Amino acid sequence: MSCALVLGSAKSKPFAKDKKIGIIMHQKASALDGALFNNVLGIAPGTTGKEILKQGKLQLAETYPHVIQIENEKVQKIERTDTGFQIITNKTHYSSKIIVVAVGPSNLFNIEGLIQYLQPHANLPAAKQRIQLKNINHKVDDNLYVAGVLAGWRSQFATAAGSGAHVATDILTLWNDGQTAMVHDSEPK
Ligand SMILES: Cc1cc2nc3c(=O)[nH]c(=O)nc-3n(C[C@H](O)[C@H](O)[C@H](O)COP(=O)(O)OP(=O)(O)OC[C@H]3O[C@@H](n4cnc5c(N)ncnc54)[C@H](O)[C@@H]3O)c2cc1C
Repeated sequence: MSCALVLGSAKSKPFAKDKKIGIIMHQKASALDGALFNNVLGIAPGTTGKEILKQGKLQLAETYPHVIQIENEKVQKIERTDTGFQIITNKTHYSSKIIVVAVGPSNLFNIEGLIQYLQPHANLPAAKQRIQLKNINHKVDDNLYVAGVLAGWRSQFATAAGSGAHVATDILTLWNDGQTAMVHDSEPK
């Protein structure tokens, strides 16, 4: 969601004009479910993960309605095509030039087409048997990115969200022909 928010926020940039952005909002097994946050900068102490899931969706929908939120679908398979990727869910399929995978580090990971990138999580206790996708600086392969704890980061909310934001700026930079791109809104003067 953090990645989608930053991508969505670039909508006034010329290089983002014709880009379509979608996010598959599957939340049956988010680490946010059951979490209580007292230690995240900018988030009021006592905020629950459930509230963040709800508010995050709302923030994305109200602030960047051009970002398409796909509800109640689970990704089952990813295939490379001549033009990018085919994403197959339990209900339908989508095409995309770029993919960001951010499904958390569960060892039940079973998205076909990505299994070859799995490795034991480098920064969580081995006893937990968590996994990550092999990547260099979030890049798994051409146009294929990983974000959040699945990228190999330790499980803290700010780290996972920051990872998603970082990947968004990688994608904005790609869209901007390799020239570093970020989105900063400012208070009116
Ligand atoms: C009980 C608990 C308490 C915590 N307390 C704190 C705390 O106090 N402070 C702190 O900083 N951090 C805390 N955390 C950690 C924090 O919640 C995580 O670090 C963060 O949520 C990880 O983000 P993520 O995006 O990597 O994974 P997640 O938040 O788990 O998101 C992964 C998403 O991928 C979806 N998904 C999975 N498989 C598929 C699929 N096949 N297709 C489509 N979607 C899929 C899931 O439904 C989920 O929505 C806590 C975690 C837990 C479990």
